[in-house]
Amino acid sequence: MSKDKLGINTICTHIGEIKDEQFKGAVSPIYLSSSYEFLDVDVKRYPRYFNTPNQEYLSKKIAALEGTEAAMIFGSGMAAISHMFLAFLSKGDHLVVQNTLYGGTVNFIKEEFPKYGIEYTFTNGYKVEDFKTAIQPNTKLIHIETPSNPLLTITNIKEVTSLAKSKSILTSIDNTFASPVNQNPIDFGVDMVMHSATKYFGGHSDICAGAVASSNAHIERIWNVSKNLGGSLSDMTVWMLERSMKTLGLRVKAQTKNALKLAKWLHKHPKVSKVYYPGLKSHPEYKLAKAQMKGFGAMLSFELDKSLDSEKFQKTLKLIKSSMSLAGIESTVISPHLTSHALLTQEERNAVGISDQLIRFSVGIEELKDLKKDIEQAMEV
Ligand SMILES: *Cc1c(COP(=O)(O)O)cnc(C)c1O
Repeated sequence: MSKDKLGINTICTHIGEIKDEQFKGAVSPIYLSSSYEFLDVDVKRYPRYFNTPNQEYLSKKIAALEGTEAAMIFGSGMAAISHMFLAFLSKGDHLVVQNTLYGGTVNFIKEEFPKYGIEYTFTNGYKVEDFKTAIQPNTKLIHIETPSNPLLTITNIKEVTSLAKSKSILTSIDNTFASPVNQNPIDFGVDMVMHSATKYFGGHSDICAGAVASSNAHIERIWNVSKNLGGSLSDMTVWMLERSMKTLGLRVKAQTKNALKLAKWLHKHPKVSKVYYPGLKSHPEYKLAKAQMKGFGAMLSFELDKSLDSEKFQKTLKLIKSSMSLAGIESTVISPHLTSHALLTQEERNAVGISDQLIRFSVGIEELKDLKKDIEQAMEV
């Protein structure tokens, strides 16, 4: 059966299964061996070679979801991103990276790149012109993130990859926020797609993992670095991740549906001064989001009216918990000014549009009416 023809929920359920030939069980067996026969075998398997049976097969599911030839699974999203960068950037090379970016990625670049002699430029914005002006003769990779955290800006993937291709520069994207359910960057010319599998892939807030999907050649290049650095995922967790990913399509579609309805509701709410969600017609890149995304995602941010105390609001919520992480089936909120952007000064935060009233909302699968009721009661205080 050609996997191109399969729908997303079929890929989630079946691609990358390990058939249980011995007992005919319904689910993939878990292989915990860290030692495999060496002589007379086609594949020399070892966990840190990222090729145990469970790692190898789950990679097929991720590749099928992103429409790539291959994929690799890592011990965290940051392992995925750091290995990818280190595979394609050497001493004297230059990275162009979007300024609105996951905090961990920013820290990795700023703290580790100087040790390797790798140069970098953060763009001034997320428009293609911003990427153009940041490119240098030694630029080897452009890294983007769309939708971005926490203001859900949308970068035009096609424009950035066309620009990169015209200068023989590779492109990578952090597709964590959208997930392959809502966005397939490969269709718009991106070379490498990475995920924090801790988020939607895992989806139940009990797994820390990461992944990169790309061509066989690019994955081989990453593998050559990764086998030296380590950072593979334990097969126990790989197996759990496979189980979680069977419901990725169902979960993310339900979360996305809830998010669109909540965004519209909050947009009209008298105690909310602004909503950031690419599915709202008021979002500056609504049309672009519609063109390059299959759904608008389940992350949104909103500004509470000045009459409300944002910390008190979060503490008063009963169903919705505060959490630094995101993308679980349970709804969570966080103040970016206390977490991802805490190290910036008030002026710097104001400059990038992160006010103390801003709440980032990771929408879960709960019933819409219960979520609304919870938010409503927390606004009464
Ligand atoms: C969480 C996250 C990461 C890092 O993933 P970890 O699994 O925590 O290492 C990278 N990018 C985005 C957008 C994230 O949300």
